[in-house]
Order: sequence, then C-alpha cells, then structure tokens
Amino acid sequence: MRIASTLNELTQILSKHANTSLGFVPTMGALHKGHLELVKKSIEQNDVSICSIFVNPTQFNNPADLDKYPNPLEKDLEALESVGCDYVFTPSKELVYPPDFIPKDFSFGSLDKEMEGTNRPGHFKGVAMVISRFFQLIKPQKAYFGEKDFQQLAIIQSMVKQAGFPVEVVPCSTVRESSGLAMSSRNMRLNKVQLVAASRIFERLRAISEMKSSHSIVAVKKWLNFAFLTDEDLQLEYFEIANPNTLIASDKWNDCDVHIACIAVFVGEVRLIDNILLKIN
Ligand code: AMP
Repeated sequence: MRIASTLNELTQILSKHANTSLGFVPTMGALHKGHLELVKKSIEQNDVSICSIFVNPTQFNNPADLDKYPNPLEKDLEALESVGCDYVFTPSKELVYPPDFIPKDFSFGSLDKEMEGTNRPGHFKGVAMVISRFFQLIKPQKAYFGEKDFQQLAIIQSMVKQAGFPVEVVPCSTVRESSGLAMSSRNMRLNKVQLVAASRIFERLRAISEMKSSHSIVAVKKWLNFAFLTDEDLQLEYFEIANPNTLIASDKWNDCDVHIACIAVFVGEVRLIDNILLKIN
C-alpha cells in the first residue's frame, strides 16, 4: 500500500493507472469496520482502490466537534493495509483548498433543507466542496458512500448529476455493532454506559418499523419523542420520516412505497445519526 500526501505523488499514481478502473472511498479517518466494508467493495469492483483520509474543516459547523474529531492515522493505515487497499491519499488542507480554489455552486432543492441541513448549517456545502474537489483531483470511475449518512448520499448523487462528474456513486449498507448501534468514528468517544444507551437509538428505529402497520406517522413520532423524553442518557435532536427521494417529510404512510426514518441524538456531547428504510407492504 502506498501513501500519497502531495499532488505530485497523487499524479504519479494516477498516471500509472490511467487505463485501469479506479475506485475511491473518501473518509475522515478513525476507521472502523463500516469504512472497511466500503474499501472492500471498492477492491472487489475495481482494479485499483484509493481511500482518502482528510478531516474536512469546511463541513464542521461546530468547531469543538472538529477539534475533538479522532485522528489515529497509524491505526488507520494498518487497517487499510489489512484489507488490501492499494493507495491512501492523505492531503493537507492547503492541497485540498489552495488560495485560488473556487468552490462550485450547487443547488440541492429540498435535499439540504431538512434534518442535517437545518441542524448543521453549512455542513452539506462543505461536503459538496470536498467531494467535488476530490472527484476533480482523483477522477474515479466509482465512489463509495455509506447509507448511514443517507442525506449525504442523496446530496452527493445530486451533486454528481449537477456537475456531470463521470463517476458512479455506489451506496453501501450500514454496518452495525451486534447491539444494532451503527458504527461511527464518534462511538470511540462514548464510555461503556453511553455505548449501551446509544444502542437504544436503532432499537427504537426498529420498533418504529414494527409499529408502522398499526400506527399513523403522527402516532409513531409521538411514541418516539416520548421514549427519548424519558431516557436520561439520550437527547433527541430530530426524528423525521421522509420520502427517500426528496427528503420531504411524509404525512401519511401511503404517501410513498418506501419512507426513510432519520434520527440525530446526543449521547452526552457526542452527536450520532442513524436511519432505517420503512417499506410499506
Ligand atoms: P466518515 O469518515 O464519517 O466521513 O465516513 C466515510 C464514509 O463511510 C461515508 O460514506 C460514510 O457514510 C461511511 N460510513 C460511516 N459509517 C458507516 C457504517 N457504519 N456503515 C457503512 N458506511 C459507513
């Protein structure tokens, strides 16, 4: 496995593989099995795979969150090597955002107006900025994104269409702990009690999935809000049931065949997100 940190090193790698299929997995490091599944899928589907590790400052609306973001580079490199990743791109901020860098302008319609969009102002602008820059630098044929960040995936798909990037976005299922908790780099910041509490997030999403045949959307939302209100370890930031294509909130189950239920919860100072697809019949 080779590491590229400069533009020169990246260019050398890309020219060496000019006629091969290139798979790209963008990450912010602190890798876990969820990230590694994306890398494994890329390895399966491409001749060459490149994973980036870059904690992108432009997507953090909360500076404290950026400061506390874990950065165990050595461990990450070992993990990538162990699954057979070919290349790791670890650029500096200056390489990603040079002084003459002008971000592309995107318009996401309803996709960035709800949920993460309202609760993390500027977040998706930062995500689109970094991923479009990486797509320009790396020019992959395929790029891998986790469904855990469902709204982010929708934003990336829209961005690819708007910019006309010749890249296939490959969605990857959420990898979970045996407790059901979605794997996240942020889980490293949870103590044992908080880890147990955090597993109640997906437990409640699963309960919603069971309730959908017998309860209205209003009723399940009320149930979920109450469950969090009486849970002293978890603070609900938002819970929404939406159309997975537009992310506009659903009023009734028969509004569409499939809904996406998305949630953001604080466990102490750590903010976690998760989601579940709800199929109707
Ligand atoms: P991050 O490092 O958090 O920016 O995540 C990098 C990529 O890994 C994103 O496409 C995430 O959606 C994906 N990812 C993060 N956690 C998981 C998970 N538990 N299962 C599958 N993909 C994940």
